[in-house]
Amino acid sequence: MKPHAAAHSRQRQALSVLTGRLRGQARKITGPRQAILKILRAQPHPLTSRKIFAALPKGLCDLATVYRVLHLFEEMGLVKRFDFGDGTARFELVGEGDAGHHHHLVCTRCSEVVELEECFPAEIEQRIAAENGFKAVSHKLEFFGICPECQ
Ligand SMILES: [Zn+2]
Ligand SMILES: [Zn+2]
Ligand SMILES: [Zn+2]
Repeated sequence: MKPHAAAHSRQRQALSVLTGRLRGQARKITGPRQAILKILRAQPHPLTSRKIFAALPKGLCDLATVYRVLHLFEEMGLVKRFDFGDGTARFELVGEGDAGHHHHLVCTRCSEVVELEECFPAEIEQRIAAENGFKAVSHKLEFFGICPECQ
């Protein structure tokens, strides 16, 4: 595998840039929205709604609001949803100018997540598309294993 053509910008955007993106789409910056952006920014790994909720100041909003805000952010392309096969959606902030395409290595014992910067060469998708008569082929892929701490 070689690095993806469009290297994932793992830099964190300033909170003002993120709230600017909300404003740019004529969205109000409510307390919960701003607080959730802050948590996602501080933790550059996919987080479950419950984890985000637990990190919010007590009494700011309920879990249903967290679900709604994450759904809104996903629609706006601010966050990307990942599925690690355990039935719980996880959300991660998408960098500016980055479609959010990247992969994770997940520990099956402690759920530690490593961000992977490499991806398959584009030729593999092109060949799969050509061989099957498909267009616009993409992929989703996560890796699983046992981290050094858990060995
Ligand atoms: Zn582990
Ligand atoms: Zn990630
Ligand atoms: Zn990939």
